[in-house]
Amino acid sequence: MKSESPILFDNSYLRLGEEFSRRQLPTVVQDPQLIHINYPLANYLGIDSAWLASDASLQALAGNTTLPGSDPIATVYAGHQFGSWNPQLGDGRAILLGEVVASDGKRFDLQLKGSGQTPFSRMGDGRSPLGPVLREYLVSEAMATLGVATTRSLAAVTTGERVFREGALPGAILTRVASSHIRVGTFQFFAARDNTEAVKKLADHVLQRHYPEALDAANPYLSLLQQVIERQAKLIAQWQGIGFIHGVMNTDNMLICGETVDYGPCAFMDTYHPETVYSSIDHHGRYAYHNQPAIAHWNLAWFAQSLMPLLDTDEERALQLAQQAIKTFMPACNGHYQQLLANKLGLREASEQSATLAAELLQLMSTEKLDFTLTFRRLADLADPAAGPGVEALLQLPASLDSWRQRWQDLVAQQNLAAAEIQALMYRHNPALIPRNHLVEEAIFKATYDQDFSYFERLLEVSAKPFDYVPELAKYATPPTPEQVVRQTFCGT
Ligand code: AMP
Ligand code: MG
Repeated sequence: MKSESPILFDNSYLRLGEEFSRRQLPTVVQDPQLIHINYPLANYLGIDSAWLASDASLQALAGNTTLPGSDPIATVYAGHQFGSWNPQLGDGRAILLGEVVASDGKRFDLQLKGSGQTPFSRMGDGRSPLGPVLREYLVSEAMATLGVATTRSLAAVTTGERVFREGALPGAILTRVASSHIRVGTFQFFAARDNTEAVKKLADHVLQRHYPEALDAANPYLSLLQQVIERQAKLIAQWQGIGFIHGVMNTDNMLICGETVDYGPCAFMDTYHPETVYSSIDHHGRYAYHNQPAIAHWNLAWFAQSLMPLLDTDEERALQLAQQAIKTFMPACNGHYQQLLANKLGLREASEQSATLAAELLQLMSTEKLDFTLTFRRLADLADPAAGPGVEALLQLPASLDSWRQRWQDLVAQQNLAAAEIQALMYRHNPALIPRNHLVEEAIFKATYDQDFSYFERLLEVSAKPFDYVPELAKYATPPTPEQVVRQTFCGT
């Protein structure tokens, strides 16, 4: 039987019951206009392209109409924000339209972000200015092409209405796609209320949906905890490996499925420094670059704590199991990170020597104030002298790196790999074209104040091929000049 809806919804989260969400329709907006649609992603999700190009789709993506089968909800959660417990959060400016199952059987949430107030909006207006929508679109799609697990961006529209922040700004709505939006904070919400039945219901849902292998384990809930820890260990190592700073790693911004979520005040680091912070609200550097693994560890401890009643009926034993699992996070994260660093340096396997070499390089980069992305990319150029000049015109390595380079080349040579092979490995792990913060800001500025979306479109296009540098793209690989440096990023809340 042919469905009447262009999107085949199946809303398993809604079926979990009333304590997990509230029904909430998006707010109707005045004059929606399309900014961008991600057709490849839509195609993967089985959404008809012809329909997507229609006005009917624009109205649905703006929240003005509800498609058959969609049963919009705002989900509840709690969370630790900058270390402080907030027992009542929830989707305050996002509405889950429902879930779709892709052609390969994977299930995804379709969510509108910036689509009006919900019962969880507290003092907020439920809206989003255009800037944060464009930032999330650009950075989440870049992360996906860089091979990092992430929520995706399916579409962005402007609302034709103004949103008031520091002044009046154009409003916009992002359609976000995630394997699910279930957070550490979702578990915390029920655990904090001693609602073990709900924690179990949620854990069973997550097991079915994201970790079906764990159902066969002797203790499925312990296996769930272990696997969430493993996915986060890999994720955070990847962030570190590309110089990504999330900016607001609250427990409500950590997804159980292991995807990066909530591109608020995030940025890719330009000049390398371990203490780099961009977020305007992170006054103490809690979410600085070098703290990201420790913060993930802290957040996961809260996840473990929430699962405790399910780990064992004996409290002592449950605590022991939780602690044992949590202890594995740092070594696992560091293991992934060292392997990535080795690959970034053209070494197939991590070793004590590769770790030392990488640490020395980072120290030199920090002292010399070198650009994180370009330094690694320049080393990749140097791996095969027969190759072209690469990014040489954009960054030359200072003489203070000469002795390090000699030791690096010696270690690389021990592998008996062809120079071209080593270079290929390095190029695969060292992007040249990340959406740099000053370019994201430029794209946002042009769209917001000149209604010129061409900068956004171009940056999106260039970021889609992060590893393919050609000199014509120099603008996109060049670090900001001192005047262009963006010192702070804003959540846009
Ligand atoms: P975030 O820091 O973006 O993860 O948001 C934290 C919490 O604040 C979540 O519960 C959001 O739904 C809520 N929130 C953020 N911005 C707004 C807004 N403009 N209106 C209503 N709620 C918001
Ligand atoms: Mg959030």
